[in-house]
Amino acid sequence: MRTPARTLRHPSELLRAGLVPPERLPALERVAARYAVAISPALAELIDPSDPQDPIARQFVPDPAELEVAAEERGDPIGDDAMSPVPGIVHRYPDRVLVKLVHVCPVYCRFCFRREMVGPHGRPALTGAELDAALAYIRARREIWEVILTGGDPLVLSARRLRDVVRALATIEHVKIIRVHTRVPVAVPERVTRETARALKAAGKATYVVLHANHPRELSVNARAACARLIDAGIPMLSQSVLLKGVNDDPATLGALMRALVESRIKPYYLHHGDLAPGTAHLRTTVDQGQALMRALRGRYSGLCQPTYVLDIPGGAGKVPIGPHYIEATERAEGAFEVVDPAGRRHRYPPKA
Ligand code: SF4
Repeated sequence: MRTPARTLRHPSELLRAGLVPPERLPALERVAARYAVAISPALAELIDPSDPQDPIARQFVPDPAELEVAAEERGDPIGDDAMSPVPGIVHRYPDRVLVKLVHVCPVYCRFCFRREMVGPHGRPALTGAELDAALAYIRARREIWEVILTGGDPLVLSARRLRDVVRALATIEHVKIIRVHTRVPVAVPERVTRETARALKAAGKATYVVLHANHPRELSVNARAACARLIDAGIPMLSQSVLLKGVNDDPATLGALMRALVESRIKPYYLHHGDLAPGTAHLRTTVDQGQALMRALRGRYSGLCQPTYVLDIPGGAGKVPIGPHYIEATERAEGAFEVVDPAGRRHRYPPKA
């Protein structure tokens, strides 16, 4: 398809770009009235409009199935609001907080766990006074070692604004780590400049950038170059991916994604099981399928390519690894274990003498 000149935000624009058939338009208007839509030129270019199952389109082109809300789904699936002591902060674990600076993104993922909060009609950005209150909250709690800038996508902010926030965090002695979660390097690679990298760094603090990418095609030449600008500036990168039906739920695609990340000097960090966000059942796999995929990766791909498969417990109780497991206690001898190798063969591990 021809690359659109600007971000596509309305079903009629998707129709003009050849990404949806005309008969779908009325249903998609209803989806777009409920959940934000945005497909950046860089990601639109990656879609093959002749493929009805295109894995990039599945992530960003709205689907009438989003209007069907399953009984187990909920508006705030990981319980951000229950863990928010002041606007913009989510404090779920003792040593770290999320700071949600903005609630807008360069693209809107159809499976987004914050889909009720993000978008042009979602929650507003933090005001100056709210940001001051969030910083005061962090400053007053010496146990906060790490601050995670998320949202929305913090890299939609200007380099100057990012620098101001990072510098303010850098004045807090006990904050040692600043982590930024973003989709911008794949969605709008040209936004990631050397100035962005400079803005994210602060003397005496370690900055990490975590890229959200779900399909190997997202690691385009331009996306890899954007990541290289951050990494070459001394910012280590990690990745998080969401396990998505029809996008990356087969070993070859998931393995290719992990390899593309590692080749880009990005260490795979998390593979998230799909959250129970409303209208996203058509994109979720089962946990059994996720574990089988992780087993397939373990056998066939380098240790560098192994993310941790995690589930955010619905309601906000936290994130936990959900396997698969390779070792279990055996009843045959006290302290002995049975270990399963990547090929599925069982081996005895002896008790300590
Ligand atoms: S970039 Fe993140 S916050 Fe934004 S729509 Fe996608 S999943 Fe949601």
